[in-house]
Amino acid sequence: MALPPSPTAGVRDDDPAMSAQPIDDLSAELFQITAALRARLDWMRHGGVDGCPVPVQRPARSAQPQARSGPVADLPRSGAKAPQRPASVHPNAPVEPTWSAPSPDDPAALARAAVEQTSRMAARSQTAAPRSPVRSEAASTATTESPSGIVYPELASLPSGADGLRIIREVIGDCRRCNLCHGRNQLVFGEGHPEPWLAFIGEGPGADEDRTGLPFVGAAGDLLSKMIKAMGEHAHKLGFAELGTRLSREQVYIANVVKCRPPGNRTPEADEIAACGGFVRAQLAVLRPRVIVALGRTPTQFLLQNAAPLGRLRGQFGSWQGVPVMPTYHPAYLLRTPSAKGQVWDDLKLVILKLAELANLMPSGPSA
Ligand code: SF4
Repeated sequence: MALPPSPTAGVRDDDPAMSAQPIDDLSAELFQITAALRARLDWMRHGGVDGCPVPVQRPARSAQPQARSGPVADLPRSGAKAPQRPASVHPNAPVEPTWSAPSPDDPAALARAAVEQTSRMAARSQTAAPRSPVRSEAASTATTESPSGIVYPELASLPSGADGLRIIREVIGDCRRCNLCHGRNQLVFGEGHPEPWLAFIGEGPGADEDRTGLPFVGAAGDLLSKMIKAMGEHAHKLGFAELGTRLSREQVYIANVVKCRPPGNRTPEADEIAACGGFVRAQLAVLRPRVIVALGRTPTQFLLQNAAPLGRLRGQFGSWQGVPVMPTYHPAYLLRTPSAKGQVWDDLKLVILKLAELANLMPSGPSA
């Protein structure tokens, strides 16, 4: 399709028609052009970039906004015009510009700022971090967050043993710090000797634990009890009589990374571990066990801060704050996979030798 000719095509400066145009008309046109340019510069000064609207300045709200849920949650309300974002911008990136506006009298600076703004938005869309875990009550009562979770300042300096455990239980209270509180029947704190040589850390309570409030009951708990008993008997056989007396269900301590049952026994979410992990860390700090056994992937990765598969980590000691940690399979896994029992027994025998070494025990000769 042929384009219409430019209105000034073929017009020369000395064209009589030009000189015949009234000067007032030219002034009015110039005024309109100037006004349009000023409006555009003003738009750019407030953050306008081609393809992006000037951000909508919302008035501050005094109350928390009502959460919108359901299939229409993300659709604009009827009659309201939803702010448009370029497709390359991360959906959680704030709309507000973060650059300081240059002088409106400097068009070159405005143009530079517009280019910089566009570059920043593109870079942000490429490097935007994943959405932060949901922060709950835990965030309002804690002041810092370590790589392994929220740090509760009230648990920073505790007496060892039973007194420390009692304070931790009081701080936990009727905990609502993460979403797991909604489905629990009972919070499962942990149980055992307040000054154990050995501590077992699992992932979280199951149905039986949620019902009784005790860790490792039911079929997996029974198997763990048998494993501990076998360790004690093996220590006796090796001639470590004192160690043998320390390896019974009553003499060790047992707890989980999260204290409330995840629905359907699912793996705890990262924000739930972050909220609850500070409590088991505090428990271990006051218990001061000589060795920790991490039962399963979640406690292993939590204590060692190592995302490697459990199959690669088990069978060799890691360290949690200087305490040797032996990762091994969870008893519930052994119930499903009995062929792995030999590997777990190998791991537990290493734990017995480590405990004997740390206690400077000398074999007194195998007992009958
Ligand atoms: S799992 Fe832990 S942080 Fe979450 S509600 Fe239970 S005790 Fe509180």
